[in-house]
Amino acid sequence: MSVVPLRPQPMPTEPGDESGRQLALAGYGLLDSVPESAYDDLVRLAATLCQTPAAAIALVDNGRVWFKARVGLKASERPRSDSICHRLIANALPDQVLVVEDLADDPRFAGLGLKLDERPLRFYAGAPLLSPDGYALGTLCVMDSVPRELRNAQREGLAAIARQVQHLFELRRYAIEQRRLLSEREAFAQQLEQAQADLQRRHDLLQHSASHDPLTGLLNRTALAQLLGSEDSMDRLRRAAYTLMLIDVDHFKMVNDRHGHLLGDRALRAVADAVAGSIREGDVAVRFGGEEFLVVLPGTHLATAAEVGERIRQRIARSSLPFPLTVSIGVAGGEPERDRPEQVFDRADQALYRAKASGRDRLVVDDS
Ligand code: GH3
Ligand code: MG
Ligand code: MG
Repeated sequence: MSVVPLRPQPMPTEPGDESGRQLALAGYGLLDSVPESAYDDLVRLAATLCQTPAAAIALVDNGRVWFKARVGLKASERPRSDSICHRLIANALPDQVLVVEDLADDPRFAGLGLKLDERPLRFYAGAPLLSPDGYALGTLCVMDSVPRELRNAQREGLAAIARQVQHLFELRRYAIEQRRLLSEREAFAQQLEQAQADLQRRHDLLQHSASHDPLTGLLNRTALAQLLGSEDSMDRLRRAAYTLMLIDVDHFKMVNDRHGHLLGDRALRAVADAVAGSIREGDVAVRFGGEEFLVVLPGTHLATAAEVGERIRQRIARSSLPFPLTVSIGVAGGEPERDRPEQVFDRADQALYRAKASGRDRLVVDDS
């Protein structure tokens, strides 16, 4: 423990690394914080120990000295220029207590006209409050309006209380740092979640575009091949009767030739919409070729499938295209244990051929 000598010396100038000091002080989140009993207790203890009417934890901010805790002082802050604390921290060293027994006798402070509330300030003792990297944040100080002395034990006690204040400061900084780390971690976790969701969306999109026809939105042949290769869907076909429907647009080449490809594409979308709007969940609609569509209706008998097909045909005939559009449909049924899917497909294809041959714009049911 050392005491700053009282011999006359020039006023300390602004500390060199003031911006670093300000940054360190801001890191504690102390300025303008609400009163806290832990700090109030230490200030009261300092006043009692030194038998002074006033004591404070003073923090040296930009243009002011702000009191985190105080007794015997009305104002919660004072201008930085007329504060001893501000002068003390310029040369602050750990455990160094500055004692000015009578300010009226001290040429460094005599002319300042410092006040302790309304009365002249005569006695001041302050211990600097330092950050671990040596920045002086402020002081723990005791004051009186009458001159007095501090016994060695009181100086040591004041320095000890200042160390306790520093401990509280460090705990506070640690808590702030922990909160910051936690929120950083939460933000990172959120970003990670977002990235995972993005990745999943892209994956879904990719999977969708790999298995769907971009023009009509129906499944494509790749998806059909996957379905035929999947045990699950083949099991369904083996378990119960199903129907297979082949739909082919009539004279579509002529539609393209007369109305152009763009309208031709619109016609294909109208066909796909009519198909998609007529089947149930669990049915499978595939754009099988350019203007050919395949529909699988699991668990459906021929008569029902014919009704569905007829509905599709009529919807297409009624669609709001600027030209008439018709389709021919071939339907064939598959029985589990009896038919292989290729055989059912062939029979549906033959039925379609008969629909075309007998004048188009109709549905033919395989009767074999
Ligand atoms: P049919 O009544 O006998 O079925 O005669 P069709 O003209 O419909 O049959 P064809 O197979 O001769 O012609 C099919 C046409 O479908 C030829 C092809 O240019 C056209 N086409 C295939 N894919 C598309 C497509 O994605 N968009 C358009 N606009 N046309 C397509
Ligand atoms: Mg065709
Ligand atoms: Mg055709």
